[in-house]
Amino acid sequence: GEPIIDKEKCIGCQKCVKICPASALEMYFTPEEQKILAELAASAAPVEEEIDPEAAALAKKLAEYKGVWVFVEQTEGEPAKVSWELLGKGKELARALDVELAAIVIGDNVEHLCREAFAHGAEKAYLIDAPVFRYYRTQAYLKAVCHLVETYKPEVILMGATGLGRDLAGAVATVVGTGLTADCTGLAIDDKRNLMQTRPAFGGNIMATIMCDKFRPQMATVRPHVMPMPERQEGAGGEIVRESCPIAEEDILVKVLEIISDRKKDQVDVAGADFIVSGGRGLMAKENFAMLQELADELGGVVGASRSAVDAGWMPQERQVGQTGKTVRPKIYIACGISGAIQHLVGMQDSDIVIAINRDKDAPIFEVATYGIVGDLFKIIPAITNRLRELKA
Ligand code: FAD
Repeated sequence: GEPIIDKEKCIGCQKCVKICPASALEMYFTPEEQKILAELAASAAPVEEEIDPEAAALAKKLAEYKGVWVFVEQTEGEPAKVSWELLGKGKELARALDVELAAIVIGDNVEHLCREAFAHGAEKAYLIDAPVFRYYRTQAYLKAVCHLVETYKPEVILMGATGLGRDLAGAVATVVGTGLTADCTGLAIDDKRNLMQTRPAFGGNIMATIMCDKFRPQMATVRPHVMPMPERQEGAGGEIVRESCPIAEEDILVKVLEIISDRKKDQVDVAGADFIVSGGRGLMAKENFAMLQELADELGGVVGASRSAVDAGWMPQERQVGQTGKTVRPKIYIACGISGAIQHLVGMQDSDIVIAINRDKDAPIFEVATYGIVGDLFKIIPAITNRLRELKA
């Protein structure tokens, strides 16, 4: 019908059209007005398209930053595998942007890691190698990374969401004055060369895609096992760019006196296992996890747990799989008596094969399962274990 316009108030500025969140408004002109406008348009000289100076300055600033970087985390020269997983993803991003993929290697006697980085897809490695970087200390590594960022201006930096990576990424983002998205589960490039950083939000109930479109570099952390490990290219070469970062031992406030490993001898590494048998509330009691252990032993795997099983005290926290536990990517994940809440799924849905055992045929776990067994786990699990033993005999 006829639009309702308050002619007393409307001055035709069209601000309402621009800010309507649903884009539901358009400017209305009476037929007479339209005629006048058409005449004006016909008689006017062609105008240069107006350039917004602010937008142009921003575009210029962003264009100074080029390249995708991955921070190679190491402890005493031993690399964290997540760094190679990130190089795999980084390669995809670099291709989409048509730029170089580079590794940042910082430490003491760590040149071999540059070659490892090339074998995992990096074309270049920025190396800062000096005794002050032997142990990770925020102050020293922060200075080194910021020095590289200021000198070479990358557009994307990825780090592992490990204890070290979380500490360093936050510090770097603060000092260089950019954004950081932690624990991303998806990374991609949009049509404006921005990094689309996807991660669970609001307790895992929605997936949010976060952009950092006004600042560079765009920084993200990703947990171990979230991105697939790229295939190793034996003997692949690349360019090593040696840099020095002027920081003296005296300038660093933290001194490393002793390293005490937090790994207890009997601690099981759920995140690194190829076969995981996980139990949930359906296991009913702590004793029943022995049944899962038997199956895991037959497979040469380990036992994991849902948060409900951990909260009930049936399994230690380090076995928990999911958003607040470990992210796993085994060859086979067997979910027993686990309903498949989104917070559990985000931690295991990228497993090669998921086998779900649940007596409720509508349980959401079946939506991510490669094979689903509807029935009583107390009958099914011992039957599988026995069958495996028979096959081995
Ligand atoms: P339930 O949902 O109670 O499922 C038990 C299942 O067992 C049911 O499907 C039932 O049909 C089945 N069952 C029962 N008896 C048998 C039987 N005899 N045979 C076969 N099947 C049987 N959860 C995690 O796991 N990891 C996390 O990291 C995590 N983080 C969270 C973070 C936040 C912020 C929030 C809010 C929640 C988080 N949760 C997490 C909790 C999550 O929402 C679920 O509550 C939890 O995963 C449910 O555990 P469950 O599947 O073991 O239990």
